[in-house]
Parts: sequence; structure tokens; C-alpha cells
Amino acid sequence: MSPRGWAVLTLAGLGLALLVAALVLIPWNRPPAPRADQLAALRELPADQVERARQFRSALRPGSWTVLGVGLLVALALGLTPLGSRLIELAGRPFGDHWTAQAILGGLAVVLVADLVTLPFAAWRHSVLTRWGLATNGWAGWTVDLLKSYAVSAVVGAVALLGFYTVVRLAPRWWWAFGAAGAATLVVLLSFVLPVLVEPVFNRFSPMEPGPLRTQLMDLAARDGVPVRDVLVADASRRTRAVNAYVSGFGPTRRVVVYDNLLREATDAEVTAVVAHELGHARDRDVPVGTLTGALGAAAAVVALYLIGSWPPLLRLAGVGSVAEPRAFGLLLALVTVAGLVFAPVQALMSRRVEARADAHALALTGDPAAFESMQRRLSSVNLSDPDPPRWEYLYSASHPSTVERIAAARAYARKAG
Ligand SMILES: [Zn+2]
Repeated sequence: MSPRGWAVLTLAGLGLALLVAALVLIPWNRPPAPRADQLAALRELPADQVERARQFRSALRPGSWTVLGVGLLVALALGLTPLGSRLIELAGRPFGDHWTAQAILGGLAVVLVADLVTLPFAAWRHSVLTRWGLATNGWAGWTVDLLKSYAVSAVVGAVALLGFYTVVRLAPRWWWAFGAAGAATLVVLLSFVLPVLVEPVFNRFSPMEPGPLRTQLMDLAARDGVPVRDVLVADASRRTRAVNAYVSGFGPTRRVVVYDNLLREATDAEVTAVVAHELGHARDRDVPVGTLTGALGAAAAVVALYLIGSWPPLLRLAGVGSVAEPRAFGLLLALVTVAGLVFAPVQALMSRRVEARADAHALALTGDPAAFESMQRRLSSVNLSDPDPPRWEYLYSASHPSTVERIAAARAYARKAG
């Protein structure tokens, strides 16, 4: 069988594995609470708070959707016209058109152009967040964060680009197979490395101070059978007023992180509800499962890029001879951008189901639906999130159940628990 035949077979296998993983590992049996209960929860929220959140979200909406469109147009312009390949040639020229220069500098140049075009939207977004009091870092802090994230992307990107195009040169017929394995490995590696190496670039983390709350949280984790070495506090307040908590990494790099804002704003019972939700993620192995599906998805993407990228009309548009040459990186980026936009609602749906399971875990672990509900109210009011966002926006991009869904779920739990 030809490499192409094997690629089709591999893609089918990876697609099937992804489908099985999604069917088995995502808790599909947790539909949102009935709409009537959600509306009842919505009616009880302070009207001015709901109105303020909606005004804020309306202020953000036009730019958020425009930037998606502009990002897509730029990616298409770089990938489906010879613009991208010309830019990459230009980046390699001072280095005698050497392939490594084209691969690394050219690839990074293409990404940088796409970033620069959307930069005004990022700045505009920051100005809205500042005006509404959510961002606290000012323009200097924002710029430093931006440069740091460019630096991190440049390092990770350079390694990935060099690795990828080296494989292409060593195995011109089978690069997609090695590339798929490499992409999957990179996803797993990043999941270990990001919390330890990259998160500290943006925030300082310190162990939660000893005291009744910390003891209570460590007891909670022990009771839950989730080994947590420490609860870390991130100095998020220097950037934002928003409150949040998350769990990242797995195995030796797993950590529960709470924003310092959360400790300042919320009651101990509410913080406990949030940490119980995070423990739910740890218990259900949501990070390793997400990493596994991410790795399968990345491998499938490489094989799909090989197959789609050998379609002659696309290569003609991009002005390249093969999708495997460094000059064709713009085309790869365009295809990845389109795929990202197409699969966003699927990812959001799976994320919401996983988040709903962590909520159910928090309710069962704490047995305190009242604290859970007041935490949801607080999250919505401090973070200015629309408690009941427009349906289409929710379906396309919401990673978490809406506030009214979460409150309705807490009430359903309270009713069942009697
Ligand atoms: Zn969560």
C-alpha cells in the first residue's frame, strides 16, 4: 500500500479512537437542568447585576467576533495566496535560502504577521476590560504580558517548526507518520511542562498560608482521595479583578491553583466549593483525559494536513510544490485556523459536560449547595459574566455551563438531598 493509503487508514483509525474516547470519557449523561429552573434562577438574580454584565458583554461582542473573522481572513490570505510563501522566502533570503531559516524564521514571521494584524483588537479588548474595571494591570503590564507570550510562543514554535521540517527532510514519504507521533508527544510534554515552566512566567505562585482554610481544603482533598501536595495561590490581582481557580498538569506536576482575588472576595465556604470543583477535575482525571484527546487530535491533524495539503488546487493557490516544504507553512496555518473555528463548538460542548460533572462532584463532596450557589452568584457578578448568555454564543464558545444552569443544578441537588 502507498504512504497515502496508509495515511487514509491511519486517519480513520485516529478518528475512530477520538470518537470512542469522546463517547466513553465525556459524561454525556448529564444534560443541563430544566430551562424553567434556569429561568427561575435568573429571575432571582439582582436585575442591575444582570444588566451590567449584559452591557459589558455587549461592549466586548462586536470586537470578539470581528477578530475571529479578521484572523480567518489573514490566515486565508497567507495560506491560499502566494503571500505566505513569499514572506517565508524573504525571511530565509539573508541566510542563503537555507531550509532551517525558512522553516524557523519564515514560520515565525507568518505567525507574527497574523498576530500583528489582530493586535489592535487585543488592545481594544484591554481598553474595554480596563474601562469596566476588570483589568488592573495598565498598559505597561499588558505590554509585558504580550511580549512574554510572544517569547513563549517563539520558543515553543521554533522547536516545533525545526522538529517538523527535520522529520520531513529525513522521511520525505512518511513524514506524516513521524509528524503525527511527534505532535502527539509534544502535546503530552507541554501538559507536563507548561505548569512548571510557563505559568511562572506570567504569575507568581505561593503555597496557601497555613490556617483554618488551608487545613479545611487539605482535609477535603484527603477525604476525596485526591492526593494534593499543596494548594497554590496565584497573584492574579496584579492583572485582573476576576476570580478563578484551576487545576493543571498531572502526575508530579499536578496542582490546584486559586487566584488571590478569590481568597480576598469570597467566604471560606465559597472557596471550599471552588476547590471541591477542582478536586472533581483531578478525581475524574480531566487533565490527563484532555491531554490524551488533545494528543490524538494533534496526530489526526498532521495526517489530515498531509492528505488535504496534497490537493493540487490548494498547492497552486499557495504557490508551492508540496505541503511539506517550509514555504507551504502559511497553507498549513490556514487549514489549522479553519479547523479550529469548525471544531470550537464541539470542544465547547465537551468542556461544558466535563465542567458540569466537576460541579456535581463539588456538590456531593461539600454537601453545601447554598455555598455553591452563592459562589456562582459571586463569580458572575465579579467577572461580569452574563448569567444566561445568548444561545448561539453559548453553543459556539461557552466552556462552562452558564451561571443559571449551575445554580439550577445546585438547587436540583438540594431538592434530591432533601
Ligand atoms: Zn472546572
